[in-house]
Amino acid sequence: MSVSETPAPAAPRAPASRPELSIVVPVHNEADNLPLLVERLKQVLDGAVTSWELVCVDDGSRDGSLAVLRLLAAQDRRVSAVSFSRNFGKEIAIAAGLDHASGDAVVIMDADLQHPPETILLFLEKWREGYLNIYGQRSDRDGETRLKRNFAKVFYRLFARFGETELPEGAGDFRLLDRKVVDALRALPERARFSKGLYAWVGFRSTGVSFDVAEREHGVSKFRYRTLFSFAFDGLSSFSTVPLKIATWAGVMIALMAALTALFFVLRTLFFGTDLPGFPSLIVSIMFFSGIQLVSLGMIGEYVGRIFAEVKRRPLYLIGERVGFDARTVDHPRGDALPPLIR
Ligand code: UDP
Ligand code: MG
Repeated sequence: MSVSETPAPAAPRAPASRPELSIVVPVHNEADNLPLLVERLKQVLDGAVTSWELVCVDDGSRDGSLAVLRLLAAQDRRVSAVSFSRNFGKEIAIAAGLDHASGDAVVIMDADLQHPPETILLFLEKWREGYLNIYGQRSDRDGETRLKRNFAKVFYRLFARFGETELPEGAGDFRLLDRKVVDALRALPERARFSKGLYAWVGFRSTGVSFDVAEREHGVSKFRYRTLFSFAFDGLSSFSTVPLKIATWAGVMIALMAALTALFFVLRTLFFGTDLPGFPSLIVSIMFFSGIQLVSLGMIGEYVGRIFAEVKRRPLYLIGERVGFDARTVDHPRGDALPPLIR
């Protein structure tokens, strides 16, 4: 039962088949981790909640994760899976997971057991106290390389300074969201999904719970620096228009400087005449301004590119297969059927 007293105004649902808690897990080549994850979740959740389900989103795995998921779903009806037609990325996998989860609360966690399942109990405690948006805060970043840590630090500083929403320090995707928050997130239509920013943007009563990041159980991390960089840029550009303003301001300042320089040259010529055919200054200023123009154009291009991505209205993801949802299709949280295969 959700902590909120007001019943959901949406179409009536059959409460029996709606679990109290859904666990959403994005999966990309995690075949070795999945059985262990289900085992640990069973240990932690049986007894802690009246009912739960696990919704795995197979994000184009190539290591047989889907086969493992089929097996797990056959063994336990609480396990279900959605499989993408290709790799769409973790952010989108989470969005698909939220679309398919039907619980009163949804926990998002990684498949590699770096997010300790025991922390879910702390999340549940906060949820029962009345918090709707509960985020896990990693207490340390020891397990990461120094470069990655510094990169994160710079990013958070930039975001704190220029971003339009406040990001809690060290908060990631490991969190518990009340049904209200999930529905709010699902109503956001944007394609460039920087979910950390979106979680903060939707608001609701929020609090943090700190946890220690465990070692990855099997396999290797799937994030490379290039992905991280583009992820950071997505975050900054979808939550801030400052890059656009920087270009404008730099343009204005340099134009002013150019006007002053021009004035200086005019006056000097008037009083002292020309002794040099101002060739160097000409070349320098042409190069300088070309550079500035290119920078500004590039900035604008970044935003235009994002506008382009949004207006194309492509589906966020394509589903190749669903496993273990047959019993649930009738009873979706929004009172309608599950989203069609193409959304
Ligand atoms: N993941 C995903 N799609 C991707 C990359 C990763 O769904 O394209 C999943 C992955 O299976 C894991 C989670 O996202 O459950 C976090 O990935 P990973 O552990 O590689 O990242 P890190 O812990 O290094 O940040
Ligand atoms: Mg990991």
